[in-house]
Amino acid sequence: MDLGIAGRKAIVCASSRGLGKACARALAEAGCEIVMNGRDAGVLEKAADEIRRTTGARVNAVACDVGLPEGRAALLAACPEPDILVNNNGGPPPKDFRQISHAEMIAGLEANMIAPIALVQATIDGMAARGFGRIIDITSASVRTPLIGLDLSSGARAGLTAFLAAAARAFADRNVTINHILPGVFDTDRIASAGARQAQMRGMTLEAFRAEREKSVPAKRYGRPEEFGHLCAFLASAHAGYITGQSILIDGGAFNTVV
Ligand code: NAD
Repeated sequence: MDLGIAGRKAIVCASSRGLGKACARALAEAGCEIVMNGRDAGVLEKAADEIRRTTGARVNAVACDVGLPEGRAALLAACPEPDILVNNNGGPPPKDFRQISHAEMIAGLEANMIAPIALVQATIDGMAARGFGRIIDITSASVRTPLIGLDLSSGARAGLTAFLAAAARAFADRNVTINHILPGVFDTDRIASAGARQAQMRGMTLEAFRAEREKSVPAKRYGRPEEFGHLCAFLASAHAGYITGQSILIDGGAFNTVV
């Protein structure tokens, strides 16, 4: 299917690896011009180069921390009029909620709620004026289902979702949409390192831990980042203008619900 977004400009935050990178790739395959981002310039440039070589897309790699105002300013300087914004960032580390300090609480809210909102504030009026805008936030299945130890991450992402719910409706008539994608377990570096830690804590091999975790998902496997990227590209497409304010789970059926 032609997604109808060739030539559109996209900022994809935190995209040197994992789900963000998969979104950047899928948008590049659809013909978009991409601003990719990560904190490690070497890793980012390698990822950008791979996407340039394999898709032929124009890719500008901007090494900065999207959690900082100067990082976001650098992204906007590289792409002042984005048509597509994919909000992503690292998540706070798992921790017993009783142990989370005030400073850690604020840092988690900054990273997973305030940073994406700031980028929406900076870009949405331009999108509306041009009559096309697609904003996609990478959040987490934990917005829908509790995960012990990820309380700060879940709270900040649920806050982001609620904060943008009214804006999603307010801009829908100008063909600007805001949606959230909620990943279950995807095969990324982050999941591999978290899995290695949990396997060690439980005295298991990583293979045994992964097999157990895969068995708990109805699809019996981890999600593939490219599956996530394709969903993101569809939500960014010309065909998705009637979908807004939605939180879309992609989790192999893990969340058990009828509707
Ligand atoms: P990952 O660690 O594989 O990749 C994260 C990417 O973000 C890397 O490229 C990293 O360099 C970049 N990054 C991190 N902090 C940044 C910052 N401050 N500024 C710029 N770049 C930054 O992670 P992932 O698995 O792709 O996860 C992406 C997001 O989705 C995270 O917020 C994660 O918590 C969430 N999530 C992932 C899963 C999963 O199964 N992978 C499940 C639920 C939620």
